[in-house]
This record gives sequence, C-alpha cells and structure tokens, in this order.
Amino acid sequence: MKLNDLKVDMDYFHMDTKLYEKLKATPLKNPKLVSFNKQACDLIDLDYTECESKEFLEFMNGVKSLENQDSFSMVYAGHQFGYFVPQLGDGRAINLGKINSWQLQTKGSGPTKYSRQGDGRAVLRSSIREYIMSEAMHALNIPTTRALAIIDSDTFAHREWEKESCSIVMRMSPSWIRIGTFEFFANTQNSKENLIKLADYVIEQNYPHLKDVDKKYEKMFYSLVDKTASMLAKWQAYGFMHGVMNTDNFSMAGLTIDYGPFAFMDYFDKNSICNHTDAEGRYSYNNQPYVARWNLIVLANALKEICDEEKLLEYMKTFLPQHENVYLELMNQKLGLNAAKSGSSNLDLILELLGALESSKIDYNVFFHRLSSINSFDDLSSILDISVFQEPLKDWFDSYKVVCEKQENNFEQRIEIMKEVNPKYIIKNYMLQEAIELAHEGDYSLVNDLLKIAQNPFDEHEEFDRYSKPTPMEFANIKLSCSS
Ligand code: AMP
Ligand code: MG
Ligand code: MG
Repeated sequence: MKLNDLKVDMDYFHMDTKLYEKLKATPLKNPKLVSFNKQACDLIDLDYTECESKEFLEFMNGVKSLENQDSFSMVYAGHQFGYFVPQLGDGRAINLGKINSWQLQTKGSGPTKYSRQGDGRAVLRSSIREYIMSEAMHALNIPTTRALAIIDSDTFAHREWEKESCSIVMRMSPSWIRIGTFEFFANTQNSKENLIKLADYVIEQNYPHLKDVDKKYEKMFYSLVDKTASMLAKWQAYGFMHGVMNTDNFSMAGLTIDYGPFAFMDYFDKNSICNHTDAEGRYSYNNQPYVARWNLIVLANALKEICDEEKLLEYMKTFLPQHENVYLELMNQKLGLNAAKSGSSNLDLILELLGALESSKIDYNVFFHRLSSINSFDDLSSILDISVFQEPLKDWFDSYKVVCEKQENNFEQRIEIMKEVNPKYIIKNYMLQEAIELAHEGDYSLVNDLLKIAQNPFDEHEEFDRYSKPTPMEFANIKLSCSS
C-alpha cells in the first residue's frame, strides 16, 4: 500500500483522558533517512519503496499524519532500581495508532507532558542500537518489539560531554503497555474502574482468547508469567542482558522492550553488568530471571483490586521452574542434544559448561557457533584456539563426549539440531559502535549492513566474516551509560 492509503486505528481512546495526552510531534530540522526495514514494512502492508519518498520522511518526523491518526503519549509509573516512581510516561515517545495489530510509536519526537527534565529526544546512537537490536532479537526467535525506520537530523541534543544529532526511530509493538502502566492505574482515584479498563484493553490486544472466560484478569497474569519465564530463558541462553529491567521497561505482552544499555555477552561472565549506572549489579546477567520474577510480583500487587492476589502469588511459584525448563531445553539444543529423547535435562553438563566457559575466558556465542562446526573430538582447535585457558574446556569436552556417546547421537545429528539455534553472527556492542561512528560522519551504510546481518544471523556474510570472530578483547564486556 501507498503511505497515503494506510489507515490507523486509535484504540486507546476509551481510557480516562487523564491517563494520556493528545499531542503533536516537535519536528526535527532537516530530516534524513538512515535506514528502513522491509520486513517491518510488510507487517503493516506498506510498500517499502514508499520509504524513499519525502512524504515518508515527513511521516517519520511527525509532520505528515496517516488517515485517522490522532497521536498521544501515555502515562505510566514504575519501580526504577527497586524504588517506586509514581509518575513516568512516554517522555519522548508518541503513539500514532495501530495497523494490523502493530502499535506504531515514534521515539524522539520531542517533549510530552511526561518528559520531566528530559528534552524528548533520542540521539542517533541510541536509535541505531534499538533498531538493529530489536531485529536481531526477532531473528533469534526472542519475543521483541520491532522497528520500521530511523531518521537523523540537524537538530542537536546534549548528552554527557557531547552534542549529538537527534534522530527518530519508529517502533512497532503489539502493545506498549507496561507493568508500570498498571502500577500507575492502581494508584489513581478511580483505580478499580481504570484497572478494569486497562486490563480489558490488554486482553483485547494481546490475550483475545481470554476475552469471555471466567477469571480473565487472573488468567491474563498467568499467561504473562508463562511468556516472561520463556522470554527470560531465551535471554539467558543467548547471553542477552537488558540493562534496565525496571517495571516501566517490562511489557504486558511478554516482549523485550525499551532497548537501552543492553548487550549480548562477549566473554562469558555470569556476574556481567552491562549498564554502567548499575553499580550494585541489580540487573546483572545472573540476576535477570530473579528480577523478572520480582517485577511480576509488583504487577500482582498492582492487580489486587481486580484479582485474588493470593492466587497470583501462588502462581508465581511456577515462574522459576518454567524458566528453567525452557532454558535447559534451549541449552540442550545449543549442544545438539535432545533432552526429551534422552530423558535427562543434562543439567550437570550445562552447569559444568558454564563454569568452563567462564574459567577458560571464551566468547560465549562464538563458542556455540564453533561447536556446531566441529566434526571430531580429536580436533578441538577451532574452540581451544580462541580460549585464553584451555584446560577447563578440555575437561568439559570429556564429559560432553560421554553424554553424546550415551545418547548415541553423532556429529551429523547434533549439527542438524545446533544449526537452528547457534547463529554465526551475534550483534555485539562493538559492531554497533562502528556503525554509529560512521553514521555520525553521515555514512549510514554500516547501519544497513548490520540490519541485514541482524535479520539473517545464520547466513554467511562473507564481507563481514570478522564479525563472526570473538569480540576483540579491548572491546569486550564494556559497560554502557543509560543516557540516550
Ligand atoms: P528509560 O530508562 O529509558 O526507560 O526511561 C525512563 C523514563 O525517562 C521514561 O519515562 C522515559 O520516557 C523518560 N526519558 C528518558 N529519556 C528521556 C528524554 N530524553 N526526554 C524525556 N524523557 C525521557
Ligand atoms: Mg523505558
Ligand atoms: Mg531508554
């Protein structure tokens, strides 16, 4: 479809008008297209050749509206690093409405009622990171929001020591409702009425099968617990760290949202912290499942006026076991093992591996890709050559060999399983940094190359073979700041 034929549905407007603000974007100066995503165009039936038009730039910049569009920002609250903040909201995001169940949102379109001290802007660096990473996560089958396009501009914002160019990233999600949205509604004057409206809205958007069932709000919660347990298992198995798992950054649809100082782990370290403002490691790699559980308990509390809170808390006991099941299943696949067939979760083997990866100092995701390419236990050089210490991994391979022999699976069968889940390319922070530095000079080509790699991580990208190698030590496990 042409841009002019796209029509949005403004389905949020049965909410109390105190809970959102209708507004228009504050356009950027001299907008320039950085990248657009053909896959995302397909999701909203947009003819991607439209993305090269001046109208598309105006649409991204908030100057041109789609049919029916009546944009707005939403309020929410949230626990940030464990402390309740009674009012947050879309401080730099504007919702444009829904197409094919995708809620469109521009991030960086200027101040809103909820901007507090912020400027309502998103610098190019953070938009590129979110854009590429959400597509990378999707390609790995990790539930996530998506992104349609990015524009850069001649408007500038101050961040830390630098003046940086402002950009807008168009994000798309089946829902932008957060745990924090429920926390806000639970604290309003007509809380029960508002919570019912919000829960019905979430059910309609994301849990339509629950619409007419008994105890639908409890069941919505249970579904979210299941989805979140599985999402966290995937984060852990791929070494993804979110960085800011505040309840306002936690989706009611069980998706990865609000990409900030995230990272895919370079060298395996279970205590890794990717957010440099997280001094205590609240959101460290190993803590992530426990924080997710904590966030869901906050939600249970916010829902107490419309649910039996005891029942919700009882259900929370399934969270860690569910998480562990999905995690072990995926880790077995990453080792080429079929846990169901062998009747064992191979927990000991996996725990031994994590220890060995950590003490051998090896790139986490590159290890799994190389494991998927070896075809004899007599030659482990492709793996041992990239580890700083070899003994721990050699010992682990002795255990692995025993399990493989017991399960009677051969290299071919294992490779068949592994190649589905062990990508050749993982988007690391140093790659994003290279693309960002070029983009700051006006060259957006690497952004587009990384998008292609992110969307096709299992394919060969000969020109970028260096990105399939371990992260260079000097760029490994660096911490990023939140300011974006
Ligand atoms: P975050 O940690 O990025 O999820 O953001 C936390 C809160 O700060 C959210 O309510 C954001 O909307 C708001 N925020 C972050 N950056 C800005 C900004 N540059 N301008 C206005 N609000 C912002
Ligand atoms: Mg956020
Ligand atoms: Mg952010």
